Amino acid sequence: MHDLVIERATVVDGTGAPARAADVAVRDGLIVEVGRITGAARERISAPGAWLTPGFVDLHTHYDGQATWDETFSPSIHHGVTTLVMGNCGVGFAPLKPGPKATAVADLIALMEGVEDIPGVALAEGVRFDWQTFPQYMDALERMPHSLDFLVQVPHDPVRMAVMGERALAQQAATAEDIQAMRAVVREALQAGAVGFSTGRTDNHRTARGQETPASEASMDELTGIARAFEGLSHGVLQVVSDFDLMRGPERFDAEFDLVEAMARASGRPLSMTWLQRDPGGEQWKAIRSRVDRAVAQGLSLQLQSAVRAIGVIIGLDASFHPFMGFPGYKEVAHLPLAERAAALRETARKQRILAEKSERLSGDGTPIPPLVDLLLARIELIAGRMFPLADAPVYEQPVTASFAARARMRGATALEALYDYFAQGDGTQLVYFPLFNYNEGSLDTVREMLEDPQALVGLGDAGAHVGTVCDASATTFMLTHWVRDRPQGRLALEKAVHLLSARNAQYLGLHDRGVIARGLRADLNLIDPARLSVGTPHIVRDLPAGGRRFLQKAEGYLGTWVGGVAVQRDGAITAARPGRLVRAGQAAASSA
Ligand SMILES: [Zn+2]
Repeated sequence: MHDLVIERATVVDGTGAPARAADVAVRDGLIVEVGRITGAARERISAPGAWLTPGFVDLHTHYDGQATWDETFSPSIHHGVTTLVMGNCGVGFAPLKPGPKATAVADLIALMEGVEDIPGVALAEGVRFDWQTFPQYMDALERMPHSLDFLVQVPHDPVRMAVMGERALAQQAATAEDIQAMRAVVREALQAGAVGFSTGRTDNHRTARGQETPASEASMDELTGIARAFEGLSHGVLQVVSDFDLMRGPERFDAEFDLVEAMARASGRPLSMTWLQRDPGGEQWKAIRSRVDRAVAQGLSLQLQSAVRAIGVIIGLDASFHPFMGFPGYKEVAHLPLAERAAALRETARKQRILAEKSERLSGDGTPIPPLVDLLLARIELIAGRMFPLADAPVYEQPVTASFAARARMRGATALEALYDYFAQGDGTQLVYFPLFNYNEGSLDTVREMLEDPQALVGLGDAGAHVGTVCDASATTFMLTHWVRDRPQGRLALEKAVHLLSARNAQYLGLHDRGVIARGLRADLNLIDPARLSVGTPHIVRDLPAGGRRFLQKAEGYLGTWVGGVAVQRDGAITAARPGRLVRAGQAAASSA
């Protein structure tokens, strides 16, 4: 007797092969048959016309803290994800440095709050920190029930802080002994089943105290010394986010890329790096591609983590950023509840005063706000050509004619005034979408080119992070709505999109037991109504520990999501089942094939 048979769905199996109508049978957590199935089953779902896909594999999340208080991995569970990877970009919550626990915890929280925009108070209240070493952290996560499967990477910054203490925060160079000790910490974690090591080298990442992140200037010796922790292991990946010293000048690019390449070579394992069209620096992504192509031709396994849409910021009076936060006239009313604040902004005298003022500097010592924010605010009239209203049924690829710059020109106002009037309306909940990267041409054509690249991996959703500015955990759903169904031209084939969301990422991680709908593999599945599929409107909720605030964005059209044959959500409602597990990479049970 089968546990579940899904009948007559359009099976998109994840390999890229043409979709076909078939039945799929599940027993004991595995797919046991694909074809025409007549045998008895405990549950039968007839789904003619619905897409049946493998569960999606999200390579790039920041649930390191949330995983300790949220069993369901919201919002990823609403977007078809069944396996996710945390510990990206060099930040995370283990190991803890020796000495007073309060200090160790406070340093890690300041790092995560600054780099990933997760409220520090929520982390302080929500994360239990009943571990010291990385393997103990893994054990703690494993003890807690979860809806989805997850894997962890060892993040560089906490490792550096645990080994070097204050010297790590002061960005001092690691000694040979430091490097050896860091390598031992990383090796211990990999042997316990961590799926990789991550590091971050970007000037836009600051701790909540405004310091550059501890490992952001790590030397060649340090990076390659740690990467040798993979020696002799047959599992594991490396993840790097770097801006390749863009702000210090393009002549720094090759030397920075050399570091990444040397790390990959020293590890002998696949490495993926963030791939964005930056702004300024709109040509850098092509330089990254040509260096990657050259390295791949020499036999290195380098992959490019690509977003499926612009990396943007959602702007609103209650979000982390909006154009008026630096104006003295706004600061006077910033403490008011939202609706009252909007009302105060509608007073004519206040409006006139604010529009005549200058924004005060926001970045600098003691704040996590990167200098980029001031740079952008100073150029608001220009960048408003890339700011769009974000209404119900959000549209992430809007033409410049829909921008606030264009709207302002139509009525003979400045863009700042147009934005002001928009935010001051009603209850103040209006949102603006500001695509920061990947939108230099005013369209997603560059993203299209990236997604076609043979080295591309879909990533960069940053689920669980930047909770006050984005909600790109919906990237999986957007891939299917926008790129497969809705975009007027330059769409992607359904089979290709599903392959990028499932099998391609599973293979990269070395997870051979999932990512494809085939006999003998795990029954991680999504059943999707293609007509109803849509991304919801992002909205602010206060459901983090200590009442912390985040953007939440759900989806419509996921009829069901199964993890190991167990339904974790049905038609948008999360079930009580918690079949998700910590997947320990490189250990027989984790990847059987
Ligand atoms: Zn990240």
